Amino acid sequence: MNLLEKYREEFAEYDAMERDFIDDALIWDQLNQWANPKLRDVRRVLEKAASQTRLEPEEMAILIQNRDEETIAEMYTLTNRLKREVYGDRIVFFAPLYVSDKCANDCVYCGYRRSNRAIRRKTLTMEELRHQVELMIGEGQKRTVLVYGESPETDIAYICETVRQVYSVKNGGGEIRRANINCAPLSRDELRQLKQVGIGTYQVFQETYHHETYRKLHPADTVKGHYRWRLYCHDRALDVGVDDVGLGVLFGLYDWRFEAMGLLYHTIHLEEKYNGVGPHTISFSRIKPALNTPYASNPEYAVSDADFKKLVAVIRLAIPYTGMILTARESAEVRKEVIPLGISQIDAGSRIGVGGYQEASNAMPDKEQFQLGDTRSLDEVIREICLEGHIPSLCTACYRKGRTGEHFMGLGKSSFVRNFCMLNAICTLKEYLLDYAGPETRKAGEAVIAKYLAEIGDAQTKAFVEQALINLENGARDQYL
Ligand code: SF4
Ligand code: SF4
Repeated sequence: MNLLEKYREEFAEYDAMERDFIDDALIWDQLNQWANPKLRDVRRVLEKAASQTRLEPEEMAILIQNRDEETIAEMYTLTNRLKREVYGDRIVFFAPLYVSDKCANDCVYCGYRRSNRAIRRKTLTMEELRHQVELMIGEGQKRTVLVYGESPETDIAYICETVRQVYSVKNGGGEIRRANINCAPLSRDELRQLKQVGIGTYQVFQETYHHETYRKLHPADTVKGHYRWRLYCHDRALDVGVDDVGLGVLFGLYDWRFEAMGLLYHTIHLEEKYNGVGPHTISFSRIKPALNTPYASNPEYAVSDADFKKLVAVIRLAIPYTGMILTARESAEVRKEVIPLGISQIDAGSRIGVGGYQEASNAMPDKEQFQLGDTRSLDEVIREICLEGHIPSLCTACYRKGRTGEHFMGLGKSSFVRNFCMLNAICTLKEYLLDYAGPETRKAGEAVIAKYLAEIGDAQTKAFVEQALINLENGARDQYL
């Protein structure tokens, strides 16, 4: 059965809807109404944002349309403060693992589209997958996001087995402790199966929220062509208890200002329907060139570096509790500038070809979905983050402690999660330094640990962390709260 047939009955639920929660005309009305916001309006919104309150669409429109340099600079300072208040100064690290590039869809902008005959396709066998995981663990990775195209070969049984395999690989004290999933929209029944194997976040990116653009870029004879099947997949996940969901846009497909509003409307929809549970993460991806994919080399709505910074900042202010992911699609220089604007997670040491961790460290353009901008090793990026004064973290504590969904949102919205984040960052960085770091990184990391340890005010907490550090020195692993 082809995939369209498989889901056809389930599409009916969405075809019967009169409208969905993205109203294109309303979004443009709001952006146009605030085309030239007054300074007092900008300041009013910044004041609200400073109290860590989720903004309304009209307020976001004001920030998006603001072109006053002084208040934009204030906005950037505020994003940095907000992120530190909610999560502390930690940056969480992960690396993607591309499991299959076979895809039945034909997204115009993607190197994996089915009509692209220039790439050789591959779906990892379980043995190959285990080898990939061993290599990742050998570099010090603890968190991954498993990435799949949409094909009958990578059905839910295959996906579940890959998750089981990833968790089962142990290498010395190393292991992957959190496997997030980036795959196609699934049915409720499939999502139930995914929940049982213990995934972290279920990420599905809408790519573009703009209906007409979506239609143009995703052929109607593919599953991906069904806008609402994708738009409501996080609802289906939350319906069955997969309660950490990740949103994202591929910036460059349509006007970034509209897409930012789309992300906010999506957040509001989820919060209203699921008792305050909004997106666990939002990912920021700009379209990048891909093999034999002319559209990706010359996107109509390419987002400039300056606009990209503004858009990241606007989302941090509008949705203060969400995790924000900046990937290695971006160059090292861009990442350095954008991370302080509220980014809480980055990948490093990433290889994005299927089987990529098996090869030498140079990129494999013939197999990639798009080109990577930052190909530095995990060790190099961890060192840089330390030297910038942040604390790198390989923490995976929350979902292992059951802090997901509503529970996590409560901690995030009250900023209490910061306490867990900083302690776990110290412990996981220490573990990395002991097991994997080069001498320079170890030096930079120890200095950062000493700095943040000194900042812990509560004596009991400090004693816990100091004891955890001693345990790690003595050979214990996986110390977390
Ligand atoms: Fe397939 Fe995703 Fe690429 Fe579309 S974007 S062709 S669904 S891998
Ligand atoms: Fe993430 Fe929770 Fe760890 Fe903080 S404590 S880094 S929110 S898993």
